[in-house]
Amino acid sequence: MAIVRLNLLPIIYYSLVINKMAKRDYYEILEISKSASPEEIKKAYRKMAIKFHPDKNPGDAASEEKFKEAAEAYEVLSDGNKKARYDQYGHAGMSGNGGFGGGGGGFGGGMNMDDIFSQFGDIFGGHFGGGGGRQQQQQVRGSNLRVRIKLNLEETLNGTQKTIKVKKMKFAKGATSKTCPTCNGAGAQIKVMNTMFGQMQTQQTCSTCQGIGKVADKIPAGANAQGLIKEDEEVTINIPAGARDGVQLSVRGKGNDAPFGGMAGDLLVVVEEEIDKTIKREGDNLHQELYISFAESALGTSKEVNTVGSKVKIKIDAGTQSGKILRLAGKGLPSLEGYGKGDMFVHINVWTPQNLTPSQKEFFEKQIENGEMMAEPSGKEKTFFDKVRDLFN
Ligand SMILES: [Zn+2]
Repeated sequence: MAIVRLNLLPIIYYSLVINKMAKRDYYEILEISKSASPEEIKKAYRKMAIKFHPDKNPGDAASEEKFKEAAEAYEVLSDGNKKARYDQYGHAGMSGNGGFGGGGGGFGGGMNMDDIFSQFGDIFGGHFGGGGGRQQQQQVRGSNLRVRIKLNLEETLNGTQKTIKVKKMKFAKGATSKTCPTCNGAGAQIKVMNTMFGQMQTQQTCSTCQGIGKVADKIPAGANAQGLIKEDEEVTINIPAGARDGVQLSVRGKGNDAPFGGMAGDLLVVVEEEIDKTIKREGDNLHQELYISFAESALGTSKEVNTVGSKVKIKIDAGTQSGKILRLAGKGLPSLEGYGKGDMFVHINVWTPQNLTPSQKEFFEKQIENGEMMAEPSGKEKTFFDKVRDLFN
């Protein structure tokens, strides 16, 4: 990654060339009306700055131009004096040494990227790694570590705290460093080139220290060239209620250490749901199968069913058919949106007796002979499709 910085002289020359070309109206650039309030101007600029931010559009020269254009428009429109002059005279009132602004501050085109970040960085900084300065990229950070963590339904419902062992790169005891002899600790090498716009400086990451600015001095046995060694560490992770399969939590600073100081990376924890043998999840709703005997279905009964973390007694009416679905309102999982709860659906299955004893066999044979206990659908029974539809109503 090379940061290109134009020297000041070519920039001024370049902006004069641009000034002679048709310049876009500042209000048009920010897509606001001439009567926009200072707050609206700021908001509009923030929107443009985020849209065309170089971190979001790496290597895109057109976006970078738009980013600069917006900064220039904001620089003028956010300053009462400059805005008044611009409103009266247009771009003609702004260019060259028009006798205002003083001290070389006359913006008539072409703001330098570093100026933009130092002047307005705080406006959009929050979106890009904090601080707004691009220099932050130079800071050496340890890499992120990713682990998976299994949660059962109850842990998903209530949240939990887990202590896990992670294997991470840690800075070895006794490892020391010294200033990189190639870049003298700057982490970068500067090259000067002559181009048609004048001298151009390119800054490249130092190839000896990879931008760290330091190289190893003493490395204990087992550690790598950056003084890092693989070790186990116990990390306690707080998991909030409602964390679902695939949700990623990040624990700041618990990833791999950075070589020779610097910030450690983050520990990224990916939540994985343990498959529950009896309770299945579908969104916020839960489902389970309940088997009752033929006699229980005929006479009616009550049963205890497991819900997440507790038990609930349910009543089964006499004559309940196989396939009936009972709904336990609010016994599902809390919604991820933070309001409401899902339901628990209990699917009733009537167990048909198997391996009858001779006397049981005789009993059932009599029923058939006498025309008793026959299937007698009234036509009002719910079909499978009715039941599915009911679930979603
Ligand atoms: Zn170096």
